[in-house]
Amino acid sequence: MNVYMSCDMEGTAGICSWKQCDPGDAYEYPVFRRYMTREVGAAIEGARQGGAAALIVNDAHWSMRNLLLDELPAAGDLRVISGAPKPWSMMQGLNSSVDAAFFTGYHAKAGDCATLAHTFSEAIYSVAVNGKPCSEATLNAALAGSYGVPVVLITGDRTIVSEVVRELPWAVGVAVKDAIGFSAVNSLTPQAACDAIRAGAREAMGRIAQARPFVFDSPFELTLETAGVEHADFIELMPGFKRIGGRAVRFESREYPALLQAFIAATRIAAAANPIA
Ligand SMILES: [Zn+2]
Repeated sequence: MNVYMSCDMEGTAGICSWKQCDPGDAYEYPVFRRYMTREVGAAIEGARQGGAAALIVNDAHWSMRNLLLDELPAAGDLRVISGAPKPWSMMQGLNSSVDAAFFTGYHAKAGDCATLAHTFSEAIYSVAVNGKPCSEATLNAALAGSYGVPVVLITGDRTIVSEVVRELPWAVGVAVKDAIGFSAVNSLTPQAACDAIRAGAREAMGRIAQARPFVFDSPFELTLETAGVEHADFIELMPGFKRIGGRAVRFESREYPALLQAFIAATRIAAAANPIA
């Protein structure tokens, strides 16, 4: 069995602030990137215990240079993808040779009453595909699904874990913390979170046979609400995007990968939006 892992950071046990997952922070980030690395290591160990032969780990947060590579289990059949930008962002390296995908360190979508809730970018107020509101997990699960790959493990805060397990009932969910607010959590300790993730990953390997790829029905319609009018001004400049409101754009495609790449490009160009001085 070959396993692909998309590893975000905000859903790591204990994290309750942007500073803890901002690579520019000299004090808290170095500690919390170690917590993230340990959780990823625990998922790798659990996958192996459950029969994984080869693993691809994609560092999927911010600069995508968070994982401390020498603290991951040493093995020739483990590959780690680092750095950004990457054409497929949080899902770089996934292909149809993979048997299952794991999502670790994931967080609630923009607008949810949960810690560090967002969807790719703070410029995005909400995302929907075919009218269904989407988290990063849903958007990424549908990409995996378009390659025939099911998601069998989700770890992170309870809000996203509950949502994903509702959408993908074959997946194992490991909630490592509960939100008190945007910047406060009630969390497991890192060690307890790692133990739960290791056990969850092992169990997830046993779910692969019953798991199903998650897909939306074609044709695909992406609707984006942006945080500001200026963000929609920039996204509208890209071919294929249609302005449908002051803070809203739409993109349509018959191919889901093309839709996800358009969304990724939209988040990047929106980040460039600054009022001209
Ligand atoms: Zn992140």
